Amino acid sequence: MAESPETTNGNGAIVARGAIAREPGQPATIEEFVIDPPGPGEALVRILASGVCHTDLSAKNGVFGTEGFPFLLGHEGAGVVEQVGEGVTNVAPGDHVILAWRAPCGACRFCLAGQPHLCAASLNAEKRMRTMDGETLTPVLGIGTFCTHTLVHSKQCIPYDPALPPEQMSLIGCGVMTGVGAALYTAGVRPGTSVAVFGCGGVGNSVIMGCRLAGATTIIGVDIDPRKLEWAREFGATHTVNPQDGDPVEAIKAITGGHGVNYAFEAVGRADTTLQAILSRDLAGTCVMIGVAGPQATLEELPLGKFFDLGGSLRVSWYGDCLPTRDFPLLADWYRQGRLDLDRVVTRIISLEEAEEGFHAMERGETLRSVIRL
Ligand SMILES: [Zn+2]
Ligand SMILES: [Zn+2]
Repeated sequence: MAESPETTNGNGAIVARGAIAREPGQPATIEEFVIDPPGPGEALVRILASGVCHTDLSAKNGVFGTEGFPFLLGHEGAGVVEQVGEGVTNVAPGDHVILAWRAPCGACRFCLAGQPHLCAASLNAEKRMRTMDGETLTPVLGIGTFCTHTLVHSKQCIPYDPALPPEQMSLIGCGVMTGVGAALYTAGVRPGTSVAVFGCGGVGNSVIMGCRLAGATTIIGVDIDPRKLEWAREFGATHTVNPQDGDPVEAIKAITGGHGVNYAFEAVGRADTTLQAILSRDLAGTCVMIGVAGPQATLEELPLGKFFDLGGSLRVSWYGDCLPTRDFPLLADWYRQGRLDLDRVVTRIISLEEAEEGFHAMERGETLRSVIRL
């Protein structure tokens, strides 16, 4: 049975433990913090597992700005609902859930027009988690999963079969969904087509899995790290290109009969690889941007005529254009059927205390995903 959180006072607030980033660029500290009981529409979730995603490192380093500190790190998690607030009907205590950082509001201009995957007012819990000295915590992407417990909006909780492993399920909450969704929904990869994927880390290899599921027949992984190219082959890349061996655009054209690919994905977040992805398309090809570039990055040498040869498009994928209520169960089922190799994505299982080491391993390129097991 689940261990109950410790009650701290008559209001039912609990003391949890988590990785907190107090200052930009400084290591996170493992601290106790306080969570108020769930308000209307909210859920208290005991975390079982959390993937270490690059966005947590960026938040910790202040890449998205210095506002919001202190952060409760983590946003790729699976856990068990422990308490729900008033009016919650979609989940109940005891449910195993994957946490989503998009929970469509149903009322914004996009939701009302039938595009909930673009919801501009995604639901979050009220900010009612705080440090022991009373500072309000900002959970990364409105979730916060490097911790024993977190407070979310109940609509951020997507139930999964508890027979499935929480480490693998947690990854569906961000990186895997982002990559698979970019292939299926943003690009709409069609059977028999060719694709190139720039950046073969956790997200890039999820793009490769998505392209394979969609029936692409030429899948080219592009990375400067030979270990990542080896992983790309294991996930289904038919070819690999290392830009250190020469111009990757030329190499991709050579593989595709001189034409280029139907779909090029950028999963690094750099201007130079974005330009390479655009230039490696066949006529009328699609380039999908997934990697989040820093605020300073600009595309200065993009020949606009490249889009007038025979059409084509440049699309931005945000969370794989997914709808968590539809897509998390789909990806969990594909995992169960052996069609989505999430076991291979979980390269390392670590403790909460090892969260910093998880970031270092990611920076050194040693892992597709470290997963914190609570
Ligand atoms: Zn909305
Ligand atoms: Zn993420």
